[in-house]
Amino acid sequence: MSTLSQTSPDEKAFVRPGFQWDAADAYLFDIDGTLLNSRDAVHYLAFHKAVSAVLGIQASIDGVPVHGNTDPGILRAALQRAGVQNAKIDRHMHEIVEFMCADVVRNHEQLRPELCPTIPELIARLQASGKLLGAASGNLGPIGWLKLEKTGLKPMFSFGSFTFPLESRADIFRHGIQLARQRLGEATTVTVVGDTPSDIESARAAGTTVIALATGVFRFSDLMAHHPDACFASGTDLMAHDQAGL
Ligand SMILES: [Mg+2]
Repeated sequence: MSTLSQTSPDEKAFVRPGFQWDAADAYLFDIDGTLLNSRDAVHYLAFHKAVSAVLGIQASIDGVPVHGNTDPGILRAALQRAGVQNAKIDRHMHEIVEFMCADVVRNHEQLRPELCPTIPELIARLQASGKLLGAASGNLGPIGWLKLEKTGLKPMFSFGSFTFPLESRADIFRHGIQLARQRLGEATTVTVVGDTPSDIESARAAGTTVIALATGVFRFSDLMAHHPDACFASGTDLMAHDQAGL
C-alpha cells in the first residue's frame, strides 16, 4: 500500500515515487502545527515572564521566527535582539527554561491545544500497524508533554525528544532516532512528521525521511519547495491517500 503517486491536481497530496509513507518502524511527530495548534497564550506568555523574572528585562519574542524554531532558540534570538550577550544568555538559559516550564505547569488549565484534522485517526492507524511513536519537538519537555496530555494523545507516544539542552532541531531528531533504536534495535527505520521547512531540513540532516503536513503556518506549496518525501495538506488528505490505496 501507499507507494507511488505524483502531486495531485488539487495539490493536497504528494508522495515521492518509491517512498512508502507507512513503511517506517517508528515515527517522530513534531507537536506544534503538526499534531495540534495552541489556542491560548500560556506558552507565549511564559517566555516573557521567564525573561523578566530571571534577567529583569522585557524582551519580546514578537517577530522572532517561532515556527520550526526551538524554545531556547526563540529565547536566544529575542535576548540577542534586546542586546544581551551570548555568554550571559548561556549563563542564565537553564534558569530561564526552568522558570518557563514551571509557569506553564502552573497555568496548564488554561492550555487550549486544538488537534489538527484527522490526527487521532492517523495516530490510531499507525498504532494499529504496530509502529513506535515518539514526540520530537522544539518545545521544552514538560510543556510538550502537557500539550499532548491535554489533547489525550500522550498515552499514544512511547517517548519524547525535546529541546534543552539540545537546541537544534536536527539534534532533537537525532536524539529521537537514538531513542527509537534503543527500543527496537539499530536497524530501526524512522520517519519524521512535521509542518515546517525546518522540520524537513532537520530530518534530512539527521539522515531520515520526512512527511510534511501543511497544518501549521506553512502552505502545501511552501513545504513542497523543500522537497519532503511526502507532503499533505492535512492528516485528512494523508488518510484519504491511504484509503485510496495509493
Ligand atoms: Mg511545528
